[in-house]
Amino acid sequence: MAESELKSILENKDQIKVATACLGGCSGCHMSFLDNDEFIIELLKKVNLDASHMIVDHKEFSEVEIGVVEGTMTNEDNLEVAEDLREKAEILIAWGDCACMGGIHTMRNFGDKDQQIKECYVDKADDKSEIPNADSIPSLLEKAEPVNQFVEVDAYLPGCPPSADVIRYGFEEILNGRTPKAS
Ligand code: SF4
Repeated sequence: MAESELKSILENKDQIKVATACLGGCSGCHMSFLDNDEFIIELLKKVNLDASHMIVDHKEFSEVEIGVVEGTMTNEDNLEVAEDLREKAEILIAWGDCACMGGIHTMRNFGDKDQQIKECYVDKADDKSEIPNADSIPSLLEKAEPVNQFVEVDAYLPGCPPSADVIRYGFEEILNGRTPKAS
């Protein structure tokens, strides 16, 4: 996204609405954000955290200026959440290696997904286990992939997890109308 476009989205806003989501991730990126301590208090003077699983397991997003996604696109549920947030957020940020590059979850791309499900639920489980009904677990996508393979991403903050400093830098740059850059 061009910096002029970033600036025009955020200028003259007293409070900037932010929503965050965890896709196929471990929540480590969100935990790293929480390591920012006092910066979060400063940030909350400018930002209204509209939806985030750090607060409550939120299933629907409202229109926001900034959306943040952590995690790999690995199942149909991730796809639904990412598409919904992309539609509602003017700026979408990918947090962490999983969202930016696919991360550790892409290891599953070396195998057959149906065989992996069988191994998890049957072969490596106890005698009574069985593969859950298709309605009770989201279907796996053919491959685990980074978020930008499905929806447009405007800024990337890589790392596993990105450090609190990187996350802080990313927010400060975006709130000042600049695209975060790798140093
Ligand atoms: Fe977890 Fe690392 Fe992936 Fe973030 S990038 S969701 S910390 S595995």
